[in-house]
Amino acid sequence: MLELSTNIQYLKGVGEKRAALLRKKGIDTVGALLHYFPRAYLDWRDVRPLSECPFDENVIVKAKIVTPVQAQYVRQGMTLFKFLAEDDTMQMVVTLFNQKYLAEKLHKDCEYLFYGKVTGDLALRQMSSPEIAESGAQYIQPIYPASPGMPSKTIEKLVKTALSLCETLPDALPEEIRTRNGLCDISYAVKNIHFPAIPEALESAKRRLVFEELFVLQTGLSFLKKRRRGRAGWRVENADWRFFREALPFALTGAQQRVIEECLRDMTSGCPMNRLVQGDVGSGKTAVAAALCSVAANNGFQSVLMAPTEILAEQHYATLTAMTGGAGVTCALLTGSMTKKQKNAVKQALRNGEIDIAVGTHALLSEDVEFDRLGLVITDEQHRFGVAQRGKLAAKGQNPHTLVMSATPIPRTLGLIVYGDLDISVIDEYPRGRQKIATYLVDSSYHERIYRFIQKFLDEGRQGYIVCPMVEETENIDLKSAEEYYEELKNGVFAQDSVGLLHGKMRAKEKDAVMRRFAAGEVQLLVTTTVIEVGIDVPNAVVMVIENAERFGLSQLHQLRGRIGRGQYASTCILVSDSRGADTSARLQVIKNNNDGFAIAEEDLKLRGPGDFLGNRQHGLPDMKIADLFADRETLHLAGTESERLLKEDPTLQEPKNQPLKQAIDELYERLNQN
Ligand code: ADP
Ligand code: MG
Repeated sequence: MLELSTNIQYLKGVGEKRAALLRKKGIDTVGALLHYFPRAYLDWRDVRPLSECPFDENVIVKAKIVTPVQAQYVRQGMTLFKFLAEDDTMQMVVTLFNQKYLAEKLHKDCEYLFYGKVTGDLALRQMSSPEIAESGAQYIQPIYPASPGMPSKTIEKLVKTALSLCETLPDALPEEIRTRNGLCDISYAVKNIHFPAIPEALESAKRRLVFEELFVLQTGLSFLKKRRRGRAGWRVENADWRFFREALPFALTGAQQRVIEECLRDMTSGCPMNRLVQGDVGSGKTAVAAALCSVAANNGFQSVLMAPTEILAEQHYATLTAMTGGAGVTCALLTGSMTKKQKNAVKQALRNGEIDIAVGTHALLSEDVEFDRLGLVITDEQHRFGVAQRGKLAAKGQNPHTLVMSATPIPRTLGLIVYGDLDISVIDEYPRGRQKIATYLVDSSYHERIYRFIQKFLDEGRQGYIVCPMVEETENIDLKSAEEYYEELKNGVFAQDSVGLLHGKMRAKEKDAVMRRFAAGEVQLLVTTTVIEVGIDVPNAVVMVIENAERFGLSQLHQLRGRIGRGQYASTCILVSDSRGADTSARLQVIKNNNDGFAIAEEDLKLRGPGDFLGNRQHGLPDMKIADLFADRETLHLAGTESERLLKEDPTLQEPKNQPLKQAIDELYERLNQN
């Protein structure tokens, strides 16, 4: 008997071959097929009179074939089939290419539905290779994401076969919640998401399924958070961190102190900390990390700090060594570009517990990196790491405290979701004396003036950046690569100065050498790509020129700009763009007029949609099947409220009515872990 859990291979119409194709789409059971939703719909009821059809737009026409279907041999492998068809208003010539099978099924004097683009001219309408359906087939047809060997029509047929099982679908939304929010049940929803009788049925199905997806997501995330809290963590017995504060060359901001206290409260609670520290570029997150690592070391357990790039890891290593060294704490660096011998020595010392704080890159994730008593795991700029990588690092200890530091200003609207399983602390204050960055937007006719402007700063002993967009070799546009530009400047206007080059394709050692020379002030002007986006800290750099600024995302521009204005000097950022599009200038104006990363992120989200933040899986959440975290944010909010309410009533999801929800959450976790 057919059940939801039946292997897809045993559904009528599926064999071994099709089963393999379906599995590629993540469909391995009949139930999963029912949850494979159409990406669009074709409403065959939307028939238009031929005379009123606009040209070059897909339309549906109902027309009678008035001439025999004639085959016309063109050449080897190419036969045309042509006929005339008409409705009450006009005639059109229909052409089919090589579709012998279809052509043979069509008959003169019969009426059909034609779906395609009307072309030709006012005198003679034409349609080439339309989709053709029986004239009675006036229904809303689901269009599924097709793949080679698995066209939408085939999926449609298979779904139809499985549709009777809708009645047996468990409903992850408890009845109360459905009633309160006016949502249909799962059986109606699934039936109508595939084969809606009328558009209203489709709407109501969608609304319910979106709600369900967001409800399950939020319930799952808070459940995860609670479960983690239930475990035993490394307890900090001595949370006194005055020793750290007193050794610092500067006074921590109020926000830094508050966040450190918030973290220490977690770490003394006996349960593992699981916290996100959000702070704009330059807000001083590293000092927070250093404070926590010092306290951890004082309490006898090891910490690890992972950064997304080698340069950043090395910089953190230097900072942490300087900030924690006085307290008799041992730091070590572990990156991919170190020699095997160096790495082995560090690994050995980590295993033996001789090292208190390990700083590094992905190299830390390697299997043979083991700790003696890892109690604190910090990832910097974690949007570059997925949930899974974070977990992998944490798994090297036993329920260690975890801290995620991010400068990516995830818009407030999305923050709760993206980081739903984390507690959040925000560093909402900059160190005193931090200079405002003046931002200007100019076109490339200003280059001479820009160079003179830079020169002035270099002569005063300051440093600067010139940022170029990354250029792929395949790109055939008039853009200078960083390399070319570097050569040009070094041998031209800045021949008297020390110019450096830094880009992503350089070897780690070369990058490192250049960065060192820049940090030491030996390189005055650094021509670079977005490699420097993350975290580089050279307070003496006070001017940044961003070429072809239109090619960067807003948040990216903000991150880049955050590399200047980090010291005591007033800083200037010059965005160069010749792009005249209204959208582009609207975006660049946002950067020009804003210094607050959160505000910029919200604007970016408005202008570009959530794809940028959420489309690329960097957040580590599973892809949404039907919900759009931005467009559906109202539903997101509603579902969140319901989720909280339900968890208050049944915190462990024990009640029988909540079992389908629990099952849906387990499936979500499975998808999370696959990411
Ligand atoms: P981010 O939050 O972007 O990672 P960093 O931790 O790199 O910021 O700090 C930026 C710069 O500010 C560093 O040079 C750091 O030493 C300095 N800094 C951090 N906190 C303070 C403070 N309270 N007072 C003065 N300077 C600070
Ligand atoms: Mg940083």
